[in-house]
Parts: sequence; structure tokens; C-alpha cells
Amino acid sequence: MARVYNFSAGPSMLPEAVLKKAQAELLEYGASGQSVMEMSHRSKWFDDIIKETEAALRRVMNIPDNYKVGFFQGGATQQFAMVPLNFMTTGKADYIVSGNFSNLAAKEAAKFGQVNIIGNSKDKNFTYIPDVKALPYTPDASYIHICQTNTNFGTQCAEIPQVEGVPLVADMSSMILSKPVDVSKYGCIYFGVQKNVAPAGMAIAIIREDLLGKAAANVPTMMNYTAILDKDSMYNTPPCWCIYMTGLVLNWLENEVGGLAAMQQINEAKAKVLYDYLDGQEFFTNPVEKPFRSTMNVTFTSPNADLDKKFCAEAAAAGFVNLKGHRLVGGMRASIYNAMPAEGVDQLVQFMEDFRKANA
Ligand SMILES: *Cc1c(COP(=O)(O)O)cnc(C)c1O
Repeated sequence: MARVYNFSAGPSMLPEAVLKKAQAELLEYGASGQSVMEMSHRSKWFDDIIKETEAALRRVMNIPDNYKVGFFQGGATQQFAMVPLNFMTTGKADYIVSGNFSNLAAKEAAKFGQVNIIGNSKDKNFTYIPDVKALPYTPDASYIHICQTNTNFGTQCAEIPQVEGVPLVADMSSMILSKPVDVSKYGCIYFGVQKNVAPAGMAIAIIREDLLGKAAANVPTMMNYTAILDKDSMYNTPPCWCIYMTGLVLNWLENEVGGLAAMQQINEAKAKVLYDYLDGQEFFTNPVEKPFRSTMNVTFTSPNADLDKKFCAEAAAAGFVNLKGHRLVGGMRASIYNAMPAEGVDQLVQFMEDFRKANA
């Protein structure tokens, strides 16, 4: 068996220890005589799994008691609609557009009310995040929406908006569980799980209780946070396997990594190796303004598009796969989520240096 270093932005690497645990439990979970893939979501076995997964997320992220946690199908993209359908009580909301996902979120919300784009970094191809201290916030906005890390452009927020009385909603898809966050600063945090948590097929939302219960009566049940949370994420059949895998990853974070502060140190050390290398030579360049460089998604280009292509092909042949940048950005992108081992980054840098010497 030869596992590659997979730098995909998502779905992405899972910790090997987690995959092995899932493998060991694949045919029979506990003494249930069946796989988690086969069991009833109403069984005692699965009830324990979903409850323990939520409890683990609460422990790992230190989620205050006045927040609900829900598991939803439809990915982060469905959250782009659920957020306005559930929270846009004043008919308007503020959006910061700092990349293509926040742009999509703003466009979706505009179907349901007035969206004010209070900041936009398109002018410099999303290589920075607008200064949150200098934005024209709307006093009666229902919420402010941000994207905490822009997966395709390789940026992350250095600061977040805090406006008295206006809840902050954050898409954390590509940084969730990579470091501690103060949940109490947000009204709602949501993320698709396939970047840093589990296989594809689910989003998780963490929602402050006072924001719930305000959706209009004609909002479809499956788009209504309250309807689903009232049934403990089991209004219908939930994505059982994804929930189980989320639990295994949280277990790994808690017991093998030692929690999010330890994870942050590991992640920052990995990113530093890559950015230090990028800053120390002139063949490869990273376009992002330094304060906004993402710890999770590192973008870079070689001197031209032909060399980019050659780089990706040779890298893949050497066991470093999915380094091609997003189609909107070009160049390369190394997604170095929690499960990417430090050796993967060290060896990538060595490969980059060999490629530079051979092609400079
Ligand atoms: C990947 C991603 C999405 C889209 O997620 P889906 O689960 O595919 O809908 C949205 N926002 C961000 C920041 C992402 O990285």
C-alpha cells in the first residue's frame, strides 16, 4: 500500500488512525453485529454515536450551553440559503465578500432580502480581507456574514467584525477545528465537514439559541434550523456515517492530538515551513498579503502557466497529489489541513526546491 500526500482542498485527507479505526469497526460496530452504515438511525447504538459526537464537539470547541449544534445535509452551500431563511428577520443583512464562497453566499441571500455588500476584496483578486474596523455596517442588519478562511484564495481573517446587537455568522468550512475559536463572538458558525472533519455529505451549524424560532412559516422543513434541532438532527434520516466519522475525528483530536491549542501549534508550524520556503526564493510566489495568509490553504505560482502544469504533473507522479490551484485562481494550492502530517509538508518543500533547481 502506498498512501499519497493528498493536498486536496476537499474532500481531503483524514487522519490515518481514524481510517484504521473505521476499518476495524467496519463490519461490526461494538457488539451490534452490524456496520454503522447499516444500522437504524433510531437504534440505541446510533443514538449513542450522535449524542457522543455532539458532546465531543462541545468539549473540543468549548461551545457554551446557550448554543445548539445541528447536523445538516446539503453541505455548506445549503447553509448559504438556510442562514437568510432563518435569520434575516429585518429583511436585510451585511455580507463581506472576500472570495468566491462568500460571493455565492451573498448571492443566495439576495434571493430572500436586501444584501448589503459592506466590504469586497475583488479589486485585488481577493488577496486580502477588507479591514473590518472600517466597514459601513448597517445598523438594522439581521446579521453580518463572513467567510473565516477563503479556501480558494488562501486567505484568512486576521480580525472579525463585532457589532453590538448584530450577530456574526461565519462560514468556517476550511478552518474549523484547526485552532481554538471563541464561539461566544458568533451568532452562528457553520461548515461543510469534508475539509477538516469527515467525509463529504454533511454540514454542521452551531447556533446561539436566541436566533432560533424566527423563520417564516413557509420555509421548507429541511431548511428550518429549529425544526431539525427540535428533533435533535433526526427529523429524517441523518447522514449517519458522516456523523460517526466526525465522532472518530473528534476523538483523535481530543486524545491523540491533545485538543485545539495543540492542533493550532502543529498547523502553524506546518504553514510556517511552507511560507518560509516561499519567502526565501523567487521562483515560486504567494500572492496573499502577509497578515491574511491562510494556515490551511497555501496558494503559490511558478514563473508561468506551463511550469505550473509541469509542476503539478511531476508532483503527482512523486506522490504529492491535488496541488492544482482552483480554476478561478490558477497556479497551485497546497491544502494542509489537520490530517496532513508535518512530513508531508517537509517533503513537499524538498520537492519544490528540487523542481526549482531543475527549472529555474
Ligand atoms: C468548500 C467550501 C464551501 C462549499 O462546501 P460544500 O459542502 O461543497 O457545499 C463553502 N464555503 C467554504 C469556505 C468552503 O471551503
